[in-house]
Amino acid sequence: MTTETSTKRKRVVILGATGSIGESTLKVARDIPDRMEIVGLAANSNAEKLAAAANETRAQSVCLVDETKIDALKRALAYQPRIFAGEEGLREIACLTNAEMVLVAIVGTAGLRPALAAIEAGKDLAVASKEILVMAGEIVMREACDNDVRVLPVDSEHNAIFQCLEGKSSWDVRRIILTASGGPFREMPRTDFESIIPEQALKHPTWNMGPKITIDSATLFNKGLEMIEAHWLFGVEMKRIEVVIHPQSIVHSMVEFADGSTLAQLSYSNMCFPIQYAVTWPDRVPNSLPPLDFSKLSRLEFFTPRYDDFPALNLARRAGETGGTLPATMNAANEVAVAAFLDGQMRFADIWHIVEEVMNRHTPVAHPDLDAILHADQWARAEATRCAKALKR
Ligand code: NDP
Repeated sequence: MTTETSTKRKRVVILGATGSIGESTLKVARDIPDRMEIVGLAANSNAEKLAAAANETRAQSVCLVDETKIDALKRALAYQPRIFAGEEGLREIACLTNAEMVLVAIVGTAGLRPALAAIEAGKDLAVASKEILVMAGEIVMREACDNDVRVLPVDSEHNAIFQCLEGKSSWDVRRIILTASGGPFREMPRTDFESIIPEQALKHPTWNMGPKITIDSATLFNKGLEMIEAHWLFGVEMKRIEVVIHPQSIVHSMVEFADGSTLAQLSYSNMCFPIQYAVTWPDRVPNSLPPLDFSKLSRLEFFTPRYDDFPALNLARRAGETGGTLPATMNAANEVAVAAFLDGQMRFADIWHIVEEVMNRHTPVAHPDLDAILHADQWARAEATRCAKALKR
């Protein structure tokens, strides 16, 4: 390896290494070994899968949050990395001295504290876990600015916007247009929502992802969370952020500029594209990913969302415009409701009802600190659990 390539080889810690984004990140690392080195891997409880990833990458450090699985992890490891355990371990591995970037791909809100620890330790952040920006976008972006670290978006839509915006200020932006596939129920009449079962909701038409985000894509809460994520990442007010349904998932999002020109980013729906760009930015590096074959793309369609039938977008707009602790309560209530739906405890449409109910009961705190956010998160979980139980009766 030349000196030049070795200096460009980014040393990355993956939080959520055993999930869908974690797997795609490992693929990227295999594809561009001259540009990426995995130095740390963390997961919640899947000891075998974590060990397999570690045995392949020879990461110097690994972390398992579930301390009861540490023995299983040690047995499955073919070498002797440094081992961290528990939530404290997750924060420690996010601050490894030799890491330059921490890729946060933990489902839900557990990634927030390690992300903040990484920022404080001066690591660039590549963020897949949109929940942490929805909950605490103001704090994350302020801390990143104060510590002079970058927050690079991994979510395909935000990565697309990031690519379109390159070098432009948010003042040049007239609209950010987030594309949404519309999910598996895009064309289903509202009257049929009653009969939706988890297996149907887990069949995403264009993306292969973890269960929580797949359900969020079916309710459109995923797009709602992404509106708030875009607001914080790009410093653009909610009223300039719009959603358009694009069933083919080829255009990953667009930016309309002040002069009326619109830039879009296109590729096949494969998370390796945005992950690689977050890691190698600002460089564009050759890889084995398939480029678009325009002769086989029969059409690219765009539709207005069915706002009344999929209330998640209006709820998220309200949460984002109100700000304070309301987005955190929306996010937490949604997490509880999605888990209850997957568990067969309630119907698909109840997810929207529960989130709305919890939001209506909440009195938002403006410009909250971390404690106020975590308090609102816990409060919303308890309220949503109560609502879900009441629905069962
Ligand atoms: P998965 O459910 O596939 O994976 C979740 C990962 O998080 C696993 O590695 C899991 O470990 C780990 N994890 C779960 N809870 C904890 C915890 N308390 N502490 C530490 N680690 C934990 O999720 P995805 O990969 O689909 O999504 C991850 C994040 O990326 C989400 O925020 C999602 O919204 C976002 N995202 C995902 C996309 C996708 O294509 N999948 C696209 C864009 C964004 P274990 O396996 O041990 O349980």
